[in-house]
Amino acid sequence: MTELAMYGGPRVRDIPYPTHDTMIGREEEEAVIATLRRKELSGFSGRPGDRFLGGPNVRRLEDGFRTYFGTTHAVSFNSATSALHSAVAAVGVGPGDEVIVPPTSMSASATCVVMANAVPVFADIEDETFCLDPNEVEKKITPRTKAIIVVNLFGHPARLEALKEISSEHELALIEDNAQSPGAAINGKFAGTIGDIGVLSLNYHKAIQTGEGGVAVTNNDKYAQRMQLIRNHGEVVLAKWTDDDLPDLENIVGWNYRMTEIEAAIGMSQIEKLDKLLEVRRDLANSLTAALQPYKFLIPPFVRQNCSHSYYFFTMRFLPEEAGYHRDVFVRAMQAEGVAISPGYEIPIYRYPMYQNQIAYGDTGCPFRCPHYTGEPDYAAGLCPTAERLYDLELVTTDICKFPNGAREVKEFVEAVHKVADNQERLSKEA
Ligand SMILES: *Cc1c(COP(=O)(O)O)cnc(C)c1O
Repeated sequence: MTELAMYGGPRVRDIPYPTHDTMIGREEEEAVIATLRRKELSGFSGRPGDRFLGGPNVRRLEDGFRTYFGTTHAVSFNSATSALHSAVAAVGVGPGDEVIVPPTSMSASATCVVMANAVPVFADIEDETFCLDPNEVEKKITPRTKAIIVVNLFGHPARLEALKEISSEHELALIEDNAQSPGAAINGKFAGTIGDIGVLSLNYHKAIQTGEGGVAVTNNDKYAQRMQLIRNHGEVVLAKWTDDDLPDLENIVGWNYRMTEIEAAIGMSQIEKLDKLLEVRRDLANSLTAALQPYKFLIPPFVRQNCSHSYYFFTMRFLPEEAGYHRDVFVRAMQAEGVAISPGYEIPIYRYPMYQNQIAYGDTGCPFRCPHYTGEPDYAAGLCPTAERLYDLELVTTDICKFPNGAREVKEFVEAVHKVADNQERLSKEA
């Protein structure tokens, strides 16, 4: 038995992981240089006219996303957070409304609701995929509910078909936060295209990136137009902008959420690489899943029938009863071996002070205790028991399943798990 690095033995991995910047290559370089030479760093104008919808790179990037996802519209933004905010505003969410969201995600998945002066209502997630549980969503619907934001978390689609049925039945908008799951699919249909609007992120950490950036895809003409207006100051409602009627535009509050031509130059090359990059993720994840089969205390990511996973993270469940010690002991031992792993994911969003104190804007209590809101916000401990248990006790995440990592990184990870499993007795005495 090899001594654990935690107890002074040799580490499994002694070098840092490569960064995934290497996904940026010649194509991106050339596109950026061509853009610099053209000297048009943004093609947007806030005034009516052709440039209202951005410059040539922005258009090309949007074409690329529309083609890839097979939607009628793609609207680019300077981040997925701005795209989410615009999506929430575009479907008409406002003061007094509730939007059902999952607690397990990056904070913007819920905070975008507060940005529209509405109240996020958290529904619990399921054990298997860590995504919204449709049964829990149904329990949270009230006369004030206006929309559902579902997050396709870690690369796996949520139960989108069930959620679509619920949203249709109750006439709610369904927004997919698909920031982590481009290319994931359910019955051959891309995650992000089943709800009314799907949001992708192009920030540095995501499967493809432009540094910062986001895209919303939709088949709904009205939502697309509203998002284009919200993205670009909304002033253009003063003038006749297109030949179409623009219904319900009187309350457009516009922001500046526009993407630059430089980011778009990178993004239009990146979308071309998405399938190749996903293939790397899937190959590594499949071999890691296979290699983890012998270890009963560690459950690899679940892939539901007829679904494909895009493995933003390789998120496992650690079972403390099987292991005989706490998840955090396991993580400490693994980290000491030099392999990439972290406990939990983001904290359940309602544990953030903004929700706990119900103070968002100034000290008026809006939107939580706003005169237009007739509900009673609930962010108490125990609100979403599955999310809390997974966060506190079970989830462990590694991000090794991505370019430019390969078989070596998978092998080291498994070797570290094996060493830890071999030292069960000693570890079970750790606090
Ligand atoms: C990254 C991420 C976001 C935010 O993306 P930005 O582009 O950084 O604004 C939103 N939701 C989820 C689930 C994410 O992973």
